Amino acid sequence: MDIQFKVEKGRVLVPVGIPCPFGCKYCYTRNGEVGPARVKPIEILSHLQEFATNHAFNTIQFGYDSDPFAFPERGIVMLERLVELGKHINFSTKACIEGTALHALATVRSNLASHLTLSALISLSCWESAPAVEPHTPTPEERMRTVSNLKQIGIPAFIAVRPLLPHIADAEYEHLIDEALRAGCDGFILGPLYADEKERFVRFVPKEILRKVPGRKVIVPWSAHAPVWTRYEDGVRMQRMMMVVEAEGGKVFWSSADAVESVIASKVGEGM
Ligand code: SF4
Repeated sequence: MDIQFKVEKGRVLVPVGIPCPFGCKYCYTRNGEVGPARVKPIEILSHLQEFATNHAFNTIQFGYDSDPFAFPERGIVMLERLVELGKHINFSTKACIEGTALHALATVRSNLASHLTLSALISLSCWESAPAVEPHTPTPEERMRTVSNLKQIGIPAFIAVRPLLPHIADAEYEHLIDEALRAGCDGFILGPLYADEKERFVRFVPKEILRKVPGRKVIVPWSAHAPVWTRYEDGVRMQRMMMVVEAEGGKVFWSSADAVESVIASKVGEGM
């Protein structure tokens, strides 16, 4: 499979190009449907550069196929090169970013032109259930450390609560929201659970619970590789979670593109 890019909502998703070691149960990157499993950074970056010469977009979202900071040196080198493209950059991660990686990230940020933004999405899909659902992933507490560390070096950090898992109780999400607000996050993005034809990414969800969640087949809009998956999404529950966030003074965005837009808008506001 070739590496491909697509502009959607003014952004382009850029892969990391190496299998992710974190092993979340709902991970949809393992079967290669969203992109090739292994690609050298130089190959990704040169294809992207070529794509950028004949496509208009404002933002790069880095890390949909793996975690850019599972191998921090690789993530940093790629970010250093992405900065040269002169776009807003957002990356998503579940890593614990501290020490050398944090320091290097601060340098990446300082190399970005002053009108551009660098922001982060820190993903969590549960709290107490993380050892079962995300067994090889940095703990939720470590991810909260990432949030506060990023904030300290001036990088806005959003919490991607995705997928919102049907068999995890609301109380667990309330705890997650509480902790994330305490860590200083800039807002939340609530997201669906995807399943392929063989239901490989949802096997860990009890069938009788999954059957009750509204699901519809979609062509995944953000992927250049356009897989057709079932999108499980309980709109009523999402609204309820939004109310919990707002009651605690937080903000909810319905897509990461909207969250990134809010960072860009506040940057523009600063310059006025
Ligand atoms: S961190 Fe992301 S890419 Fe890595 S296993 Fe988990 S869901 Fe998959």
